[in-house]
Amino acid sequence: MESDEGMKRCPDCGEATALSEFGRNQSLADGRARHCKPRLPGHA
Ligand SMILES: [Zn+2]
Repeated sequence: MESDEGMKRCPDCGEATALSEFGRNQSLADGRARHCKPRLPGHA
């Protein structure tokens, strides 16, 4: 199994997505946007 390190669950996708797919948001605890970049299948 691969580690979950570097992954974050996107509430839009409903699954873990690589942190690299998330934009930056310094106001959040982990420094990453709450949702992944809106360019994955299923995103509006
Ligand atoms: Zn997403």
